[in-house]
Amino acid sequence: MTQTADIIIHNARILTLDDDNPGAEAVALADGRIVAVGARADVDPFRGKDTKVIDAAGGTVLPGFSENHMHLFSGAAELDHLQLSGVKGLAALTEAVGSYAATRATEKVLFAQGADYTLLGDSERLTRHHLDTILSHQPLVLFAPDHHTAWANTAALELVDMLHGAELGPGNEVVMGGDGLATGELREMEAFSPLQAAGGFDRYRLGLSTGGEPDPYPNDAEWAQDIAVMRRGLVYCARHGITTIQNMDGNLYQLELLAAIEKQDGGLPCRILIPFHFKNFMPLGMLEKASTLARRFDSDWLSSGVVKVFYDGVLDSWTAVMVEPYADKPGDCGEGLFTPETFRAVAVEADRRGLQIAVHAIGDGAVRAVLDGYEAARRENGTRDSRHRIEHIEVVHPDDINRFAGLGVIASMQPPHPPGCAGLPLEPTVSRIGRNRWPVSYAWRTLKDAGAHVCFASDWPVSPIDPLIGIEAAVIRHRWSPSDPDQSFSLMEALKAYCVEGAYAEFKEDRKGRIKTGYLADIVVLSGNVEMIATEVLHTIRPVMTICGGRISYSS
Ligand SMILES: [Zn+2]
Repeated sequence: MTQTADIIIHNARILTLDDDNPGAEAVALADGRIVAVGARADVDPFRGKDTKVIDAAGGTVLPGFSENHMHLFSGAAELDHLQLSGVKGLAALTEAVGSYAATRATEKVLFAQGADYTLLGDSERLTRHHLDTILSHQPLVLFAPDHHTAWANTAALELVDMLHGAELGPGNEVVMGGDGLATGELREMEAFSPLQAAGGFDRYRLGLSTGGEPDPYPNDAEWAQDIAVMRRGLVYCARHGITTIQNMDGNLYQLELLAAIEKQDGGLPCRILIPFHFKNFMPLGMLEKASTLARRFDSDWLSSGVVKVFYDGVLDSWTAVMVEPYADKPGDCGEGLFTPETFRAVAVEADRRGLQIAVHAIGDGAVRAVLDGYEAARRENGTRDSRHRIEHIEVVHPDDINRFAGLGVIASMQPPHPPGCAGLPLEPTVSRIGRNRWPVSYAWRTLKDAGAHVCFASDWPVSPIDPLIGIEAAVIRHRWSPSDPDQSFSLMEALKAYCVEGAYAEFKEDRKGRIKTGYLADIVVLSGNVEMIATEVLHTIRPVMTICGGRISYSS
C-alpha cells in the first residue's frame, strides 16, 4: 500500500542535487521523510484527503540550506544592537549613534555592530576621541563586522578600567596611543569581553569568548529571555531557508536552551550542531567535556561532537598568522592564539577521542600549523574518516593546497568574505595580503580542483546570513587582478557547497543535503527559478517556504 503524504509540493523545478536523479517536478513528504520525488505522476499516488498540497508556481525547490559556519546565539542577540553596515564617515556615524542612544539612555553599555575598518576612510582609524565627540556620557562600543576588533569611547574604557591598558594573552591587545593611554581600539576577544560582560551581553558570547558556562547560572527570568533570543535566531534562520545550522561556538548552556526548545510545542525549526569550544588557556583534560557533550547530544535535531578552536585572528588587524610577513607591515607575521606545538597536542587528543575538529585559521601560517596538527593526529592515532575542518582559509600557501585532499580535511569557506565581494571594501585587506598572495586568497576553486571537500557559509553575524547572497557571491567572485586564477563556482557547485557538502561535513550525507527518497524532509521552496535568473540578482529570489523534518518552519 502506498503511504499517504503529509505534504506534496508540485509545479516545481526541483533541483535534487542527487546526481542519479537530478531534476524532478514534485516531491512527497511523510513522517518527516521524503517518500517520493519525480514526475507528477510518480508523486500523485501519495496524495490522500489530508495531504497538504503546495503549488511552487514554477519556483526552484532545493534541499534545505545547511549553514556550515555561524554563531546563532550572539547573532540573534545582536539583532537588537545598532546596525552600522553601510555607514560611512563621522557625520553619518554621529547621526546613527545619536538616534539609537536617544531610545536607550538607561543602558549601561551601548553596542553597535558592523562598523567598517575604513568607516572614516582608508587612512584614519577610529579612536575613542572620535567616539567621545559622538557620545561622552554613556559607554559605547562599536564592533567590526568580523567581530575581531572593537572601538570603545573613553567612558567605556573607564567602565572596565582599561584606559591605561591591560595585560592580555597572546594575540589580544588593548592598543595604546602615544599619550600612554588606550586609543580605544580593542583587538580580539580578551580585549573587548569585559565590556560585553559589563553590558549584560556576556551570556550570548560565552560560547565564543571562553567556551565556559554562565556563572551564576541564569535565573528564571534570564532563562526565559535567553530562550526568546535563541528562538528569534532560529526563526531568522528558517526565514532564510536554512534547515541545518552548524554553529561554530558553543557551550553546554546553548545545548540546554536548544534542548528545552526542542521539547516545546513545535520543536526546533532547524537542526543544529553545537561544538565544544576549546580555548588556549584550557588544559587538555577539558576535552573530556567535549566527549560528554558528544555522547549526550547525538540526534538528527541537536548534536555536538565537534571541537572548535581559534588558531589565529584576522587579516585586517594583522592578527592572522602568515608564513611570510604582511605586505604592509614588514617583519610582522602575526601571532597565533596557539603555537604549532600546543595545537598539535590538542589535535592529537581530540582526534584520539574520535571527535571532529574545526579550526579557525585565516592566514597561510595558521592553515599550515593546523594541517600539521591533523597530520600528527593521523600519524599518532592512525587513519580514520575524521573529516577535520579548517574554517575560513583566507590565504593558503601553495605548498599546502594538496594536503587538504591528502588528509581528508574539509575546507569550510565563506563566499561573502573576500574583499570586493558582497559589498565589502577591497582595502585594507588586499594590501595586507599583498599581490603575490592574491592567487591563493579565498581560493575555493583552487582547493576544490585539488580534491578538497569545500562547504560554504556566511559566518553570521559576520556576514549576512542569507545563503542566496552567499551563492551569488560564489558564482560572481570577481578577481582582484586579471592575472589571478578564476575562483568562481558554478551555480550547481555553489548550491552543493551549501547542501550536499554541509551534510558531508556532519557525516550525514546518507540522510541530508539532497532531495532523495528516504532522506529527511528538509526542503526550501524559492520564489523563482535560480537557473533562469541573472546571477547579479540571484538574491532577489526569496524563500517562500521552509520545511524542516516535514514541519513547515517558515511560510511567507
Ligand atoms: Zn565564525
